[in-house]
Amino acid sequence: MEKLQSIRGTKDILPDSIYFWQFIFDKFKGISNQFNYKEIRTPIFEKTEVFHRSIGETTDIVNKEMYTFLDRGGESITLRPEATAALVRSVIQNSLLHESNLLRLWYFGPFFRYERPQKGRLRQFHQYGAELHGSPFPEADAETIFLAIALIKSIGISKFKLLINSLGNENSRQIYRKELIKFLQENENHLSQESQVRMQTNPLRVLDSKEERDIEILQNAPIILNFLDEESNLHFDTLKKILQSQEINFEIDTKLVRGLDYYSHSVFEFRSTMLGSQDSFGGGGRYDNLFEQLGGKQTPAVGFAFGIERLLLILENANLLPNAANAPDYYVISQNIEYIHYVNKITNILREKGKSVITDVSRKSLKAQLRDANKLNVSTVIIIGEDEFKNNQFTLKNLDTSEQKILEFNSIQNL
Ligand code: AMP
Repeated sequence: MEKLQSIRGTKDILPDSIYFWQFIFDKFKGISNQFNYKEIRTPIFEKTEVFHRSIGETTDIVNKEMYTFLDRGGESITLRPEATAALVRSVIQNSLLHESNLLRLWYFGPFFRYERPQKGRLRQFHQYGAELHGSPFPEADAETIFLAIALIKSIGISKFKLLINSLGNENSRQIYRKELIKFLQENENHLSQESQVRMQTNPLRVLDSKEERDIEILQNAPIILNFLDEESNLHFDTLKKILQSQEINFEIDTKLVRGLDYYSHSVFEFRSTMLGSQDSFGGGGRYDNLFEQLGGKQTPAVGFAFGIERLLLILENANLLPNAANAPDYYVISQNIEYIHYVNKITNILREKGKSVITDVSRKSLKAQLRDANKLNVSTVIIIGEDEFKNNQFTLKNLDTSEQKILEFNSIQNL
């Protein structure tokens, strides 16, 4: 029969690489704790409306990339393409902001987008993200950026670029939007096909275009920062000052808009030269209107997400992957299947003491078990031969030095 294959754009995370995933998860969990962010896990699917109402009807994600289907009850369901909206849904539903008016959350898990698969771009990918709900102030934006940088550094990445921009408040953005549309209309015939369509549906996204002809035209486009009102300017200036005071390097990218509709004020993105064409490995921004869009009361918020596959690519390309997990502490080798109960007794005691122990389960010869131990990089083996079995003893052998000694059963406790 034909062998079955996994779905295009999905990847098995095999035992060989799971260590790196655990490494990132553990580091991120530790740093999140230091910043007092609490983990939250929401379902992998939501009512489609959660994403329709938040991400924006005219974005690529909602238009082209969502895994949406009717379930057997006829309800429209979507596999989550991102977390922010789902988290806000959960915070409102569970009244999490009633207990305190500030909430710090983080998450780690799979997300789904029907994109064209390529290096660093998958249909099921994973994100770590953090969200800070309840503060309208730039200090909150800065805190999430501090957290993001601490996370990146915790896994050994020191070279990256931080880009920031401001989309201003609703008022500034509306005025800018009009100016931008005017400019795009004047240049419509020179824009790429895709940008001509985007111009109608989501003009800010045209700034994001990677097409050379668009990039050239956009050099003369009006700049959003010139349209910020006093409130928006103050927010952005304060954020920049906080970052500068901590010697955090950033570049202002006036074309940075990020894909989603719900952002306002600060947006930011992290890029690496280790990634090729998909060079962004994370980003985020402020979203002060999302709670209301999802039926909650107005709550200012800011957050960001990292793509785990992209972080792993950076680690791999920069030769920064950590050494894999250690070999087992002991291999208990048995000369004869008859000694199985004695072997199990020793193995169980060692495991209860917290040691990692392996034994043979496929009735290999003593020699083959020793070869096995070598292959697994085990340096200490416990050998149960006929004499050891009869005398309630065991042989402890160091495979690196070949030193060995016979010990009484009770001395297992001292290992
Ligand atoms: P976004 O939610 O689009 O702002 O993406 C945040 C981060 O998630 C990106 O910078 C990527 O690192 C990662 N990411 C987004 N989409 C994908 C994808 N299709 N495959 C792999 N990583 C992704």
